[in-house]
Order: sequence, then structure tokens, then C-alpha cells
Amino acid sequence: MACNPELASLITTLIGEGWKQDASRLEKLLTYEESSAVLEQLLSIKHAKKQELAAFLKETQNITVNPDSIFDIQIKRLHEYKRQQLNILYVIDKYLDIKAGNKPAEPITVFFGAKAAPAYTIAKDIIHLILCMQQLIAADPEVSPYLNVVMVENYNVTLAEKLIPACDISEQISLASKEASGTGNMKFMLNGAVTLGTMDGANVEIHQLVGDDNIYTFGESSDEVIARYARGDYSSRFYYENDQALKRAVDFIVSDTLLSIGCADNLYRLYHELLNKDWFMTFPDFQDYKKTRDAAYADYQDRTSWAKKMLTNIAKAGFFSSDRTIEQYNKEIWKL
Ligand SMILES: *Cc1c(COP(=O)(O)O)cnc(C)c1O
Repeated sequence: MACNPELASLITTLIGEGWKQDASRLEKLLTYEESSAVLEQLLSIKHAKKQELAAFLKETQNITVNPDSIFDIQIKRLHEYKRQQLNILYVIDKYLDIKAGNKPAEPITVFFGAKAAPAYTIAKDIIHLILCMQQLIAADPEVSPYLNVVMVENYNVTLAEKLIPACDISEQISLASKEASGTGNMKFMLNGAVTLGTMDGANVEIHQLVGDDNIYTFGESSDEVIARYARGDYSSRFYYENDQALKRAVDFIVSDTLLSIGCADNLYRLYHELLNKDWFMTFPDFQDYKKTRDAAYADYQDRTSWAKKMLTNIAKAGFFSSDRTIEQYNKEIWKL
């Protein structure tokens, strides 16, 4: 209600005030699934929030973004298990594809926002790689009309309030078995973003609620991941050697192109970390991530069917109300 008053007032116009007290009533929105007028309004609010975010970033951080591009957003603590490194490997792959002449049908802006503990060395190396890609692409007129990377400074709640209402695709790509729940995933769906995620944390419940057509899931299951840790036989190098696109992206981290922009210590340390360890198993999920993310971008072009996905996500988000959660805890555990 506070950070997306336009969407809140559309919802109230459609289903009344009741959802503000009882979020499960958001499900009433599903009756508008075939209303082209409502779907149009959802798209128009999303576009307005993207324009607002663009103006805010221009004003506060002197960053220019195209509000007519797909806003693909990953904002959360910087941690290897959350796998911002998998996201940036996709960006490198897409950059190299564009350089090879394969232009995306729709321009894409990939947003990152994150904080890390100051002593978390690899986190800083990942941030460094993201910033190198941002700088490289921004200076390349062959690529920047189609793909851009934006790392917002000082990610915090104030920024989240601007970024989340403007999001088209919500990146929730932690290694399966590692995220207890996540809460960002819920904030995004409530604001009409579609999740691109692993079967981890509350993404599992989101998938159950919205169904296969309204979420993009990929990657190994928790059971597969847990079994691989138990066997102790994970070799990232095996995937690197057997996946051409992955090898091309990983090698690019220490290419002359990036070394001329960034700092060799940071780039080589990250490169070696991925090749010799990759503790959070980004390489086995790379191909499926690429395929699934490209499928989401392709589906985005059918604006009506995308708007239906948005509506379904908003309608099903009420399940994550803290009132519902606490009531269930009381029934099952506290029995007060
Ligand atoms: C919601 C939120 C988080 C948690 O995000 P996850 O994606 O669940 O990790 C972290 N920081 C801020 C500012 C948030 O608003």
C-alpha cells in the first residue's frame, strides 16, 4: 500500500477494501483473468513504476536505464549460496552472444543490489565482476541497446521499495536446499513480478500456489544437491570441460577485455574459485538456467499472457501474509 499505491488502488477498485485486512481475499482477482481492461491496467502500472525507478536512479545515482526494457532484478545480500555469480555468468554469455550477432528480441536491464560483510573476499570479487560487466557494456554501442547491467549503490529498504514494484522478472536462484524461505520472493510476486527460481525455500510454495504456467523453475532439486554433498564428488571442472557456453563465459572473466577494465587479483581469484571449488554448484545449473531464462524472455513478448501471469502471482500472494502464518503456528505449535 505504501510503495505501490497505484497497484493498491487498482486492487481496491476491483475487489474492495477487504484484502487490506485479509490478504487471502486477493484471490478474488482471479475473476479478472480474462478482462483485457484489467490486464492493460496492470501493464500500465508496471510501466509507470519502471519509469519512476528510472527517474529515481537518474536523480540519485546518475544511472540511465531504459524503462522499455525487461527489468530483471536480483536484490538480496551478496552471498555465494544466493548465486549472483550464476546470474552474471548468464550476462557474460548473453553479452558474447550479442557480440556474435544474436540480438535479443527485447532489450534487457539486469539489476543487482546487495550488501556484503566487508571481510567477505569472494563476495567483493563477485561485485567487482558485476561492475566490470556494467562498465564494459555501457561503453559498447553494439551491446548496450539490447543488454545493460546496473548495480545500485547502498541497497536498502528505501531502494527495495522502488525496485520491487518496477520488477518484471524476480531472480530467486539460490542453490536448492540452502534458502530457508526468502521474503524478497514474496514481495516481488505481490507486486506482479514473475519468479525465475530454483526449487528452494518459499519458491516451492510459490510454485504450488501459482502453478507451472506462472513461474519459471530450473536447476537440480534439494535431494540431488544434498546427495552430491554427501558423496563429496562434485567437480566444477568436469562441467567446465563439457559445456562450451559455460567454458566461454568462465574464461571471459580473465580475458584481456575484462583485465583491461578490472583488477586482475579480483578476477583471477574468482575464476580460480569457480574452477577449483564452486562450493554452491553454479556450473551444474548453468544450462538449465540459461534455457529457462531465455524462455521467460520469449514469453514476455506476449504481453497479454504475461499480464495474466502477473495477475495470478498477485492473487496468490496472500498466502504469505504474516497473519496467516502466525495463525497457523498458533494452531499447530503454540496452541495459545
Ligand atoms: C526483503 C529484503 C531482504 C531479504 O531478501 P531475500 O531475497 O529474501 O534474501 C534483504 N534486504 C532488504 C532491503 C529487503 O527489503
